[in-house]
Amino acid sequence: MSSPNAAGNEPSFRESVDIMFNRAVALIDLPPGLEEKIRVCNATYTVRFGVRLRGKIETFTGYRSVHSEHMEPVKGGIRFSMGVNQNEVEALAALMTYKCALVETPFGGSKGGLCIDPRAWEEDELERITRRFAYELAKRDLIHPSQNVPAPDMGTGEREMEWIADQYRRMNTTDINAAACVTGKPLHAGGIAGRVEATGRGVQYAMREFFREPADVQAAGMSGSLDGKHVIVQGLGNVGYHAAKFLKDEDGCLITGIIERDGAIVDETGIDVEALHHWIGQHGGVKGYPHGTYVEDGAVVLEEDCDILIPAALEGVINLSNAENVKAPLIVEAANGPITAGADEILNRKGTVIIPDMYANAGGVTVSYFEWVKNLSHIRFGRMQRRQEEARHELIVGELERLSQHLGDQWSMTPNFKQKYLRGADELELVRSGLDDTMRTAFQSMRDVWHNRADVSDLRTSAYLVSINRVAESYKAKGL
Ligand code: NAD
Repeated sequence: MSSPNAAGNEPSFRESVDIMFNRAVALIDLPPGLEEKIRVCNATYTVRFGVRLRGKIETFTGYRSVHSEHMEPVKGGIRFSMGVNQNEVEALAALMTYKCALVETPFGGSKGGLCIDPRAWEEDELERITRRFAYELAKRDLIHPSQNVPAPDMGTGEREMEWIADQYRRMNTTDINAAACVTGKPLHAGGIAGRVEATGRGVQYAMREFFREPADVQAAGMSGSLDGKHVIVQGLGNVGYHAAKFLKDEDGCLITGIIERDGAIVDETGIDVEALHHWIGQHGGVKGYPHGTYVEDGAVVLEEDCDILIPAALEGVINLSNAENVKAPLIVEAANGPITAGADEILNRKGTVIIPDMYANAGGVTVSYFEWVKNLSHIRFGRMQRRQEEARHELIVGELERLSQHLGDQWSMTPNFKQKYLRGADELELVRSGLDDTMRTAFQSMRDVWHNRADVSDLRTSAYLVSINRVAESYKAKGL
């Protein structure tokens, strides 16, 4: 089921992506046939495998879809959810192609999924299932450092990525680049600092860049900065939790609603994200949380008054049945495909500004790219330069101190300057800097189209135009 709240005439997730693609590609002059080549999904592999569990053989169904190989390896997460199906995986793989092109990570698009409720299994059982799935994919090069590099997605995280990396290594004992077969690994297993927070951090950087442009903020019917803006977040998982936490703690946003599987918490005075996250960890849901108001039908909170709505859970949640009622003037698609094609039209007509998924949640693949590069270069970012940078800064600070002694009281350094300036950047700071740069650059490329083409009125179409043009250039260079 790809559109949980869908009305009868609602297109599927896959169809929604195609409709949005078609809307954009109609505005580009491509060589005959190239449009179709870009749109179609190159291949989808379906695997059914058995694992002996709890005294019987359980059969699982999984997918790995490769949308476009205009660049290799192809990249995209692996999702563990009961909603996984071929349609969904193909839609997500297509989005990966456009996302990678938009943020200039040198990958084609792919996605994988296993139809499973991860909460229904013990950790050791889940490990066996994950390893078996990884084995099935790796033996067909659907997990491979130079062919196909998965990452976490809904229902998976560092733990699963570590199992996958280890499984690949066991099957390829002489591959010196084995660690680069998957990203999102824990630090001790070849991961990179800042990958867990990356997608949420990217959402924050995307919003900061949007709010740096007063004309764009005004287009969304708002003014000022992020400070004090009322935000509703759906899904307090990896992406939603980090986005909500950073926006609250670092940008002064008020998180006034959090929607989870079992309902929502609403509090106009602002929700303590950390405390609610902890509560969910302890109790499995938001119900019973002692602060704010509990709303059993969480989905209705998508329609509450707020400045910014961040769907960060799953696809199809804003659809033909509720789009008209959504009041937020700005929607940031932290999840993939949360707005169906029909809802997108309704919202555009209403003047809602939508920061599209392929941009808003690209922080994950961006930092995955850094991790892949780190694995291939076999060295942590900053290891060679950090102390040398500090030594050079010390020279300058020493010289300034010497001069200031001559000037006496007329000149002194601001408190903390020395301490801040002297410190060389560690891996986390470098990763955040690279991510920030990526999000800003990609926003500007998208914004450029939005503001400069008379036939484009929304950021999603702009994002598609930038991506499709880049993919097309790449295919042309390949000499198809
Ligand atoms: P996650 O599994 O960590 O979190 C998902 C959260 O949504 C969970 O807290 C879950 O309880 C909640 N949820 C599930 N169904 C819900 C419902 N019906 N209503 C409200 N809440 C519900 O997953 P994630 O990694 O945070 O991914 C969330 C979205 O972000 C997905 O669309 C995914 O494709 C996208 N995304 C993730 C990454 C990443 O790096 N993890 C990168 C890019 C995009």
